[in-house]
Amino acid sequence: MRPFLAKEFVHLYGSGDREVRSFFAPGRANLIGEHIDYNGGLVMPAAVTLGITAACRLRSDYLIRLRSSDDPLAVEIDLDRPIEPDPARGWGNYPAGVLRELLLQGVDLRGIDILFTTTLPQGAGLSSSAAMEVLTAFSFLALAEAPTSDLRAIALLCQKAENQFVGVNCGIMDQFAVAFGKEDCALLLDCESQDYHYVPVALGEHALIIMNTSRPRRLADSKYNERRTECNAVLRLLGTDAPRNGLVHAPWSDVLSHVSDPVLRRRARHVISEQVRVEQAARVLVTGDLAAFGRLLTESHTSLRDDYEVTGPHLDAIVSAALQAPGCLGARMTGAGFGGCAIALVEQAEIPDFTVSVRSGYLAATGLEPAFYVTHAADGAHETTGEG
Ligand code: ADP
Ligand code: MG
Repeated sequence: MRPFLAKEFVHLYGSGDREVRSFFAPGRANLIGEHIDYNGGLVMPAAVTLGITAACRLRSDYLIRLRSSDDPLAVEIDLDRPIEPDPARGWGNYPAGVLRELLLQGVDLRGIDILFTTTLPQGAGLSSSAAMEVLTAFSFLALAEAPTSDLRAIALLCQKAENQFVGVNCGIMDQFAVAFGKEDCALLLDCESQDYHYVPVALGEHALIIMNTSRPRRLADSKYNERRTECNAVLRLLGTDAPRNGLVHAPWSDVLSHVSDPVLRRRARHVISEQVRVEQAARVLVTGDLAAFGRLLTESHTSLRDDYEVTGPHLDAIVSAALQAPGCLGARMTGAGFGGCAIALVEQAEIPDFTVSVRSGYLAATGLEPAFYVTHAADGAHETTGEG
């Protein structure tokens, strides 16, 4: 465990006889396959090197005390009382929802003191919420001496907590990516069947750069619902020709013959073409053709900008600055859109010039200071006790 974390833990909770253990859960970046999970499509997220660490220690009673170095609100949960959502609990509702699910599943939880610390920006589309949930589940299971190997069960439990306790109607991608992440691999995931396999993301002389627009995703929720409604409208227009397993499976010729509305056509074109790009991306990653992968990233952004219209000026500005900067093979928004983060594939030797160039282009276009994180595909949630 990192020394400062151990020190802060003892400062907050005092020293004690029991061992302080530590766990880590990463954030995730969806490499490609955006806005197609709810259309029966494949997504390709990767866990990243940024994430949340938890230091925790068993107590001798049934009190859970939670602190975060990122939020001054201290949270206490008494395991002897029913756990219900509570706005006054703030960020603590994410772990609380997971605790309730663990209890419902019969996990024998005891009191724990826990301190979270993070390198992951919150609300920026890198799924700090899923990282917090999976980390909570993983840490509490481990301290209860329950198995942590059923990652699918952990991901589903966390998704349920976010849906039902926090009240965010997210799909399974985020929790799945955080739990199943693997060094130098992305997950090719069918969100419907939850079938997945790993695709190698061997970046060699390149790096994945996460570019934070520093712009919160304001419109994302309402536009998300609007796009879902539009995709359903396309399915209705396809009538008996509508594929049962989602719009991504509709032949483009059927869309042309059944859908005359130009906006709905463009929505469908994004959905159908994005699925093809995901499949192509998986193939070129297997062969190590990073130039082709970069082109697919950029094509995905163009489609999300022009056909699906979920990018917004900030993501467009940062992607456009990235594509003009040295060493960039491709770039796209990641997440729901309208703010948050974009990713770029960049030659390692050019990273300093790349970031200087993107910063000045983006700052000039928007007046906002972006942030950059150099990363690569990384492991999912795991214990870090004993690591330096
Ligand atoms: P995203 O998942 O894209 O980061 P969300 O809005 O879904 O954005 O989740 C962000 C929320 O998760 C924060 O507002 C906070 O409540 C909680 N959270 C995430 N990381 C931390 C942390 N390190 N400490 C406290 N709360 C956190
Ligand atoms: Mg989230």
